[in-house]
Amino acid sequence: MLSGFGQLAAQPTQPLPQLIIIIDDIGNNYQLGKRIVDLPAPMTLAFLPHTPFAAKLAEQSYLSGKDNILHAPMENTVAAPLGPGALTQDMNQQAFTSTLNTSIAAIPHIQGINNHMGSALTQLPEPMNWVMDTLKQHQLYFIDSLTTSQSVGFELAKQHDIPVLKRDVFLDNDVSAEALEKQWQQAVRLARKRGHAVLIGHPYKETSAFLQQAIPELENVELITAADFLLRQAWQAFASNEALPYNRYWLNQHKKTQRIDNNKNQKQSQYDATLISQLP
Ligand SMILES: [Zn+2]
Repeated sequence: MLSGFGQLAAQPTQPLPQLIIIIDDIGNNYQLGKRIVDLPAPMTLAFLPHTPFAAKLAEQSYLSGKDNILHAPMENTVAAPLGPGALTQDMNQQAFTSTLNTSIAAIPHIQGINNHMGSALTQLPEPMNWVMDTLKQHQLYFIDSLTTSQSVGFELAKQHDIPVLKRDVFLDNDVSAEALEKQWQQAVRLARKRGHAVLIGHPYKETSAFLQQAIPELENVELITAADFLLRQAWQAFASNEALPYNRYWLNQHKKTQRIDNNKNQKQSQYDATLISQLP
């Protein structure tokens, strides 16, 4: 229990290794998306624009304290179908930007974007510069899913001073139990070695079941959303400032936890009230 700023200030100066879990491709299937939303851990969920359940699941995701990002479909090299909101290299700047703006507007409580597919488009500086200009206008972060090693996304985001991360490990290209465990351990090892790792998975039932058991067993690694990770990096510039009795980052985190708890309690009391009103 936190009782004052003193304890907030006492947060570790040597942070735990951090793992950023991103789940892509949410929005087409409610049940599979809901299993991910219901995982009790800080995660970043990437919603496909204009899909039947993206907005509803994004509202629930927000209330559970997760990050919502747009999973922006971008042209790939194998002509796989991209679905609504696709960004392709044959678009002019106006069509490209207006498609991206419309997709951004479709995701409630959006904080950033990452690319769905994109092995062709993310190699091209011109359209990726249009992406970064748009993100800057909306103050959104970028996560390069790195579907090709030739992607210019990460570098261009840096040039535009946009908060940015890139994918380190894909969790579930193979959903066998052994493969999931192997990829998970690879991400955890990288986090321990480098300080953080970015793991991308999908809302497959095998992945949800795996995370359900793997997350509670994680020891001495902190799960963190992409926005919190990026924000905390920025706040670390103040770490040496001894003048303040607290760090405002931790103070805001504390308030956020309270907000999520209040929301849960409120829902419970509404539920209780409904039950009581139905009593004979
Ligand atoms: Zn995807």
